[in-house]
Amino acid sequence: MNRTLAVETSKKIGEKVVLFGWINTIRDHGKVSFYDLRDASGIVQTVTREGFDVSSEDAVKIVGTVKERPKNLVNPNIETGKVEIEIESCEIISKAHELPFPVDGDGLDIDEALRLKYRYLDLRRPRLQKNIKMRHEMISFMRQFLTERGFLEIETPILTKATPEGARDFLVPARLQKGKFYALPQSPQQYKQLLMVAGFERYFQIARCFRDEDPRADRAYGEFSQLDIEMAFVQQEDILKLTEELFKEITEIVFGKKVLQFPFPRISHEEAMKKYGADKFDLREKKDPNILAFAFVIDFPLFEKTADQPISPSHHPFTAPKDEDIGLLDTDPIKVRSWQHDLVCNGLEVGGGSIRITDAEIQRKIFRILGYRDSEIEEKFGHLLSAFTYGVPPHGGIAPGIERLLMAAIGEENTREVTAFPMTSSGQTAVMDAPSFVDDKSLKELGIKVK
Ligand code: ASP
Repeated sequence: MNRTLAVETSKKIGEKVVLFGWINTIRDHGKVSFYDLRDASGIVQTVTREGFDVSSEDAVKIVGTVKERPKNLVNPNIETGKVEIEIESCEIISKAHELPFPVDGDGLDIDEALRLKYRYLDLRRPRLQKNIKMRHEMISFMRQFLTERGFLEIETPILTKATPEGARDFLVPARLQKGKFYALPQSPQQYKQLLMVAGFERYFQIARCFRDEDPRADRAYGEFSQLDIEMAFVQQEDILKLTEELFKEITEIVFGKKVLQFPFPRISHEEAMKKYGADKFDLREKKDPNILAFAFVIDFPLFEKTADQPISPSHHPFTAPKDEDIGLLDTDPIKVRSWQHDLVCNGLEVGGGSIRITDAEIQRKIFRILGYRDSEIEEKFGHLLSAFTYGVPPHGGIAPGIERLLMAAIGEENTREVTAFPMTSSGQTAVMDAPSFVDDKSLKELGIKVK
């Protein structure tokens, strides 16, 4: 007999079914016992007069008949609340020890390090099942939306060279060329620009990005995903239009919510700073969970002063300055405005992008302003400058962050709540507990000595 999923039982009244799943809860009433059976589709109540030696979270096979529940015993809170399964046999496939914590609540009051150590159990809780499912639905919607509009999904290397996005790089030693290192990409920025030179005019990727930065609540230390987009022969408005259409549809179709304003308001950086004192802000009057208030921030300054840099890119060094400000690059660079655009949602910065520099001379000039020596520019970015000499289309893009969008849309406080296997805030991976020491033999092969 074929397997029936928990949710399918309500349509099989009177039929004999085979169910597989976990014992979610046990209610023992003496003469009768109820086991709620949970599988990936949902929960269904099973009932027995015999009683079996099961405990919660055992993996089981239950054979039984679907019965309609009497009206007064219907449970409106679950999809299968109108039926229950009268157990004929219950076989324990795999016994479960007592779990380190309960998995039926939201889990937010449990020590997070413990939750992450047993993340495979933590993920059983309905809240996280739902978050991970939402993540899948959002990503698959993005793929479909962009594919329908002529975009190609193209993977770019993970073992690569540094691409500055303002964080430190993660480095990987190259065993075959001792003393040399790969850098994990802070973003696919240079590759997606090279794809424009290559003639793939519409690119996207659900890209993993790696940034060795100090942990912040809204940005996972280590790695995260972004919907990386790049388009050729476009202007900023084309990118903003595509982005707002995509996120309006995601908001309505995937999340069943509404956007506060459409088209998304476009607010200059100067105005945002004046009005909100920040380049991210919440346009909702009160924190209505069913409204997503998107906005674009535009007209950013090209450079900013930071705590440890007199001048650094406000986005990244590939962002184009506004034409009318190019003269200022030589005289007063901090005043130059750029083609950067940020996407803001409910007070979070959920993505950024820009029109790119495609003139090798201007790109060189920007690197010089940022303090790179000419030899360094050639060594680090010569490939890109060279690519720009072979017929480069004007291009630009954006990269909304998957976790931060989900946080805003679902109302979670932390990117870890929308990531299957996140790191702890101190940078240990869930369950597998990396980073870890490696043996001397491996170090020797890499030509590395740990001081
Ligand atoms: N590479 C940028 C980032 O990761 C996005 C972009 O400019 O398209 O923020």
